[in-house]
Amino acid sequence: MSLESFFNPESIAVVGASRQKGKVGYEILVNMIEAGYEGTIYPVNPKADTIEGLKCYPDLKSIGNIPDLVVIIIPAKFVAAMMQQCAKVGVKSVIIITAGFKEVGKEGRELEKQVVNIARQAGIKVIGPNCLGVIAPANKLNASFGGDLPAEGVIGYLSQSGALLAAILDMANAGSIGFSKLVSIGNKADVDELDVIKAFGEDRDTKVIAGYLESITDGNAFVNQAERISHYKPILLMKSGGTQAGAQAASSHTGSLAGSETAYECVFERAGIIRCDSIKEQFDYAQAFADQPLPAGPSVAVITNAGGPGIMAADAIERVGLSFAKLADETIQTLASRLPAAANFNNPVDVLGDALADRYEFALDVVLGDPNVDIVLVLLTPQAMTEPVATAKALVKLGGGKRNKPILACFLGAEKVRDGVKVLRQGKIPQYDAPESAVATIKAMADYVRWHTRPKRVVKLFPVNRRKVENIIERHFRQNVREIGETESKEILEAYGFVTPKGSVATTAGQAANIAQQLGFPVVLKIWSPDILHKSDVGGVQVGLNSEKEVKDAFDLMMYRIPKKLPDADILGVLVQEMCSGGKEVILGMNRDPHFGPLMMFGMGGIMVEVLKDVSFYLAPLTAEEAKQMLINTRTYHMLKGVRGQEGVDIEIIAEGLQRLSQLVTEFPQIQEMDINPYVVGPAGTTAIAVDARISVEQV
Ligand code: ADP
Ligand code: MG
Repeated sequence: MSLESFFNPESIAVVGASRQKGKVGYEILVNMIEAGYEGTIYPVNPKADTIEGLKCYPDLKSIGNIPDLVVIIIPAKFVAAMMQQCAKVGVKSVIIITAGFKEVGKEGRELEKQVVNIARQAGIKVIGPNCLGVIAPANKLNASFGGDLPAEGVIGYLSQSGALLAAILDMANAGSIGFSKLVSIGNKADVDELDVIKAFGEDRDTKVIAGYLESITDGNAFVNQAERISHYKPILLMKSGGTQAGAQAASSHTGSLAGSETAYECVFERAGIIRCDSIKEQFDYAQAFADQPLPAGPSVAVITNAGGPGIMAADAIERVGLSFAKLADETIQTLASRLPAAANFNNPVDVLGDALADRYEFALDVVLGDPNVDIVLVLLTPQAMTEPVATAKALVKLGGGKRNKPILACFLGAEKVRDGVKVLRQGKIPQYDAPESAVATIKAMADYVRWHTRPKRVVKLFPVNRRKVENIIERHFRQNVREIGETESKEILEAYGFVTPKGSVATTAGQAANIAQQLGFPVVLKIWSPDILHKSDVGGVQVGLNSEKEVKDAFDLMMYRIPKKLPDADILGVLVQEMCSGGKEVILGMNRDPHFGPLMMFGMGGIMVEVLKDVSFYLAPLTAEEAKQMLINTRTYHMLKGVRGQEGVDIEIIAEGLQRLSQLVTEFPQIQEMDINPYVVGPAGTTAIAVDARISVEQV
């Protein structure tokens, strides 16, 4: 969907233009005029002849021309009729500023539906309702009541909150941050966030896409398109409000461990979207992405005129997982040849408190030339001899130069660095008020580059027995059962290449002893009931039984105790299972998000999973790299790899298990939640075993 007519219209009708100062219909018109809009403005108001010197029209028809864009500011109840007029006249693009639609309840929702229906039938694109409008500084277009026209720049901004956009405009103007376009999407009845992001993706003036979202209309399309666009333009989003995925009554561990934010975290990670937690953070990041080249890697060098801030920056660099550049010998020698002997020639390079601009310039030039350095952060504290303005000029001079490496500045202080900061801003060197903010920005850039340069996503397909799974699921639907029990869950897993423990169900103690004898000791006994989801919770699991007698005793005890605890549970017997020992227990799981689909989970397994909460999530389908990354993202990973002489477990087989599971839940959208807990994994070369599993299904 092209939004060109919103950004660059030749003529605009303002329906509801007003003569009354303070009214939105007046403010918008004045904003438009004051911005210096070069097209024709047609105020529409049956009660006025002229407003602000412009000829007024009683309705759209009497204009005589078809305006490229119509901005509607009249009360909600008249909007549908006005949309009919737009349709009749042949208008193709409308911004509805008016509030009082979906956001106010049922009646408003009805009105909004009417408006959308008219628009769809007539092929009219609508931004809003309940929005602030659209701004395009390069076209001197301010079709909004957000405030003054901001400076021209390369950031395209979209916001689901009009009020927030007003604040952003105000802040941007104060910090002289420029924009290519700003769109307030309001209730996004027609044009939604993805339409705008796509338009920004194609817009030559937009280098960075930024925005604030509360909801996403079409989860799948969003993931796919955002991922495509992220490849050539960074997308920086603030997102508030989670999904209900984690809130639904969860019967699996995965369900209860997925928080409401999990889905968005997964989506952003997959699509390469850079998440910002505050407006300040977003501006911090956006400035760097807008004005600096991307770093080739994560190695940071710091230049400072004070020890303390240098250490703060170094700490922050380590904390966020960036690397502290190891300067080449040649760099160190060159620095030593010209800097005072007391200076520090290693990273962080300390040019000392009496450094003038020329010393900074020299050090920066040398450090930028070091092949081990990807990014330089320049710190300055205003000491007695410091020259903030001249130093800023030196940075600007070296910025964006032949080395094409990003330079970020952190001039600490307020009054004394003010003019220097101004020079930096004008010279497009991003300036931060604290070393940590600068480092967080560098981290965002490095993460984006890492995402950008990741291998092409290839999802491996394993040969499986789909038919078998289909049969089991269908049988459950026929019987109106939504929870697939342990045995059949395991049959499903076997069909997808998992190994499960041997065993069978006994209804008497003698039978249990016989089965144990055949399996070989030790064995495990588990209560067998469709009504008991967490068996250990009710004393329904006994491991390490070493003789027929122990098996019989355990059987009798379970059959005596559990029915007393759970009188309503239907108990079918006891499962006698081979014991899988010597491995570590992990959990592999999936929780299906209603908007974004299956979220895969990996974590430290066993009965402690919900206590330790050491889990990671990722959107399915998984590639081999993503499956591996899920492991790396947990603390458990180090333990799994082997610590202090302990042999590690087979990491590859866990990653493969995750990929097989990902294939299963992708091929069967009926599966809502599932987990394998525990998945018992031994050292490389041994077989991993799905000891316990649970699957819940829903008809789709
Ligand atoms: P639930 O999760 O319903 O309580 P599980 O079958 O997962 O029941 O058993 C609980 C715990 O008992 C597992 O996490 C595992 O530590 C241990 N366990 C169960 N079955 C086996 C087995 N066959 N081999 C080894 N350990 C087992
Ligand atoms: Mg379990």
